[in-house]
Amino acid sequence: MAELTQPGLLGLDFKELSRIAQKHRQPEYRARQLFEAIYPQRLANLDSISTLPRQFRAALKEEGLEVGQPRIEKRFESADGTIRYLIAMSDGETVETVWMPEGDGGEMGDGSDAGGTDWDRATICVSSQVGCAVNCQFCLTAQLGIKRNLTAGEIVGQVVAVLNDRDVDMERQRLNIVFMGMGEPFLNYENFMKAVRLLVEGVGFPESRMTVSTSGIVPRIVDFGAEPIRPKLAISLNASNDEIRNQIMPLNRKWNLGMLMQAAHDFPLRNRERITFEYVLLNGVNDAPEHAREVVELLRRIRCKVNLIALNPGPGIVFATPEEKRVHAFQQILTQSGIPAFIRRPRGRDIYAACGQLKRTVA
Ligand code: SF4
Repeated sequence: MAELTQPGLLGLDFKELSRIAQKHRQPEYRARQLFEAIYPQRLANLDSISTLPRQFRAALKEEGLEVGQPRIEKRFESADGTIRYLIAMSDGETVETVWMPEGDGGEMGDGSDAGGTDWDRATICVSSQVGCAVNCQFCLTAQLGIKRNLTAGEIVGQVVAVLNDRDVDMERQRLNIVFMGMGEPFLNYENFMKAVRLLVEGVGFPESRMTVSTSGIVPRIVDFGAEPIRPKLAISLNASNDEIRNQIMPLNRKWNLGMLMQAAHDFPLRNRERITFEYVLLNGVNDAPEHAREVVELLRRIRCKVNLIALNPGPGIVFATPEEKRVHAFQQILTQSGIPAFIRRPRGRDIYAACGQLKRTVA
């Protein structure tokens, strides 16, 4: 798979920026000014970094360097306030990033229930790869296959571009990030983790306001648990036994439910933290009461909660959306067994921004 080496400054950490400043015989504090301009101030180009001497800026440009914020190519606004952004990278590849005012309606990324209509609370859903290799059968992104990994700068860049477009004041507004857009973040682990550190140390997002969702890349779940700075963990479960999961998520043949549940059980949770399990309900496939009871058995020993999502239909997807009463019955079995379960309201269905629908219009 092709990797992009982008000449942008966005994506470099403080040490790397220090090396650039040193190379240009600039004092250490210039690196700090560069870091401040790129991340907390979110400036888009060298010309607007007025704290730096003109000569230094010119020398950087001569080297072919720029800040390198990705460009918003299109915006699709939904009637419910959701905005789906098509964001272009320097090589012309595009990914999608979604702005959801008031979270996703079922719960906020921090685990608390969404409430009110104040868009001061919002969630940004970020992509980690162009396309995806995991091939979940209910997902539109899967139809693209994988094109390439995103760089750390391109992952942070989506957030910065959306924050600037929405004119967000990080001090005043309460935002969450979910890494649940296109791609499997744990198959682009190093770049994803570097982006996380830059978002925490640079842009100013607390790690507790970020959640990463994985389809179940077991060895990376173990690595992730050992990270000193990390978002919260969500696992895309979607089936109650190996037979069904093998069919709808082929990666289960490599890391089956036994291995996945063991990794989830051993995951070192912080105080009051829970793992989120996502479960897309597919009519007549994984949504019967017996499936809910199997899920209860799977999750019995794990401190967790479950997000239930009735399938978002899409072209080329063979599954159907279950009726609401089936979704509620499923939820009830979980909650009655002591597992907190939330039904996520689909967002932005009319603009194809809801879960598993990314890349619909540009495939
Ligand atoms: S659901 Fe996620 S992991 Fe599965 S194919 Fe879609 S983007 Fe990839």
